[in-house]
Amino acid sequence: MIQVNALPDDDRACGWYHTSQPRQAKPAHSGHSRARWAVLGAGYVGLAAARRLAERFPDDEVVLIEAQEVGFGTAGRNAGFAIDLPHDIGAADYIGDLAEANKVWNLNRFGQQQLVAQVERYGIPCELRHSGKYQAAVEPRGLAVLEAYRGGLDRLGAPYEVVSGDDLPDHIGTSFYKEALFTPGTILMQPSALVKGLADNLPANVTLYEHTPVSGVDYGDKITLSHAGGTLTVDQLVLANNAFGQHFGFLKGRFIPLFLYASLTRPLTAEEQSRLGGKDFWGVIPADPGGSTVRRTHDNRILIRNSFSFHPNGVGDRRKLMQFRENHRISFQRRFPMLPDVDFEYTWSGQLAMTRNHQSFFGKLAPNVYAALGCNGLGVTRGTASGVLLADWMAGERNDMVDFLLASPGPNRNPPEPFLSLGVNFSLWNTFRKAGLEA
Ligand SMILES: Cc1cc2nc3c(=O)[nH]c(=O)nc-3n(C[C@H](O)[C@H](O)[C@H](O)COP(=O)(O)OP(=O)(O)OC[C@H]3O[C@@H](n4cnc5c(N)ncnc54)[C@H](O)[C@@H]3O)c2cc1C
Repeated sequence: MIQVNALPDDDRACGWYHTSQPRQAKPAHSGHSRARWAVLGAGYVGLAAARRLAERFPDDEVVLIEAQEVGFGTAGRNAGFAIDLPHDIGAADYIGDLAEANKVWNLNRFGQQQLVAQVERYGIPCELRHSGKYQAAVEPRGLAVLEAYRGGLDRLGAPYEVVSGDDLPDHIGTSFYKEALFTPGTILMQPSALVKGLADNLPANVTLYEHTPVSGVDYGDKITLSHAGGTLTVDQLVLANNAFGQHFGFLKGRFIPLFLYASLTRPLTAEEQSRLGGKDFWGVIPADPGGSTVRRTHDNRILIRNSFSFHPNGVGDRRKLMQFRENHRISFQRRFPMLPDVDFEYTWSGQLAMTRNHQSFFGKLAPNVYAALGCNGLGVTRGTASGVLLADWMAGERNDMVDFLLASPGPNRNPPEPFLSLGVNFSLWNTFRKAGLEA
């Protein structure tokens, strides 16, 4: 029996969770039961994989197990950008190898299509809009990234529009940035509302158990998952629990659980909205990877996302919330001096599974054990696509996207401690420092 010694335990302060429609979580699993299929983790990968397995095997029960409540974990804590374009932060122009970039672009668009189809089919109230995104710069470093990114988009043949600093206030209110690239393919949404809605509209042969943290696993002819209230014995297991997957006996020491922080203001009054100006719904990602993501939401709040910390056991340090809220406050004041009295209502953290070589894992780990883990910063679209495609592959289907994912070399091994923590902490500090005003 493998004891799982790291379990999710997110803070209770996520603004997306609290401002989306409340839902009744499904009961936790209890007692001892059996099923043919189990999917562990109900984020983008797990929700998509469970749905597709259930469609592929309509006569079987698919069990989906979530440690917390759907919409409470990372899947509901992100900035809500369902991005189509490759975003290879390891490449100078964010695009990198062209053949690979085209495949990533396809994959991400496939993920978007899957999400849009479910949102439309079930009327999920997650404010999903095809609004595009601005990638904006203020520092020379960021402007150089935009220039390189533009070249990358030209090589890829992807549409974009250059928006000058003078014109940006008509788009996003603030005159803070010097330039932006607008790319129209990104979809913005309320992430917690999205995953809550996906969970409430699963096929009838999916049984979702929430508040069921799996703390032990026994591999063999059958696989037994144990938790405080019982066991589940299954024929086939899909690990969809991101960086926590490395505590299940495979890929140990290959993921880097980084924590990202975000704050959401109260809704702006009508008078504040007219002082701000610009469009009423938009999203900005920073040209510099250490900078701030900023959004104006459907309910007229402003979201700021910046600052990072590293917690190898996957549990954030609550004390950092107040420390990083101060960073958010400074970033807000730089961008929105016309809104001096607007406070944050929520500040939260969420875990991102980074890998050193920016590769994720997709495929088979052992007989009857499959996984799609480590979608890095594009988990909304890539995670959704990976979940669907993993289920398709398990059902015997091959296609170009499956082959592309299977061909990944997978995540590199991390250096041992204390070198890992020293290296990651230095790199996070340096990334944030170098972002300068863009943070
Ligand atoms: C602040 C922030 C902003 C971000 N912004 C964006 C963005 O704008 N766009 C984007 O694409 N990505 C963004 N990301 C990243 C994105 O949220 C992730 O890539 C995505 O959630 C990964 O999906 P996943 O299904 O692989 O894993 P997760 O969403 O992490 O889901 C895994 C699930 O497994 C569960 N689990 C773990 N261990 C166990 C266990 N032992 N038993 C049972 N359940 C378990 C967890 O509770 C969790 O719900 C952001 C992340 C953060 C933190």
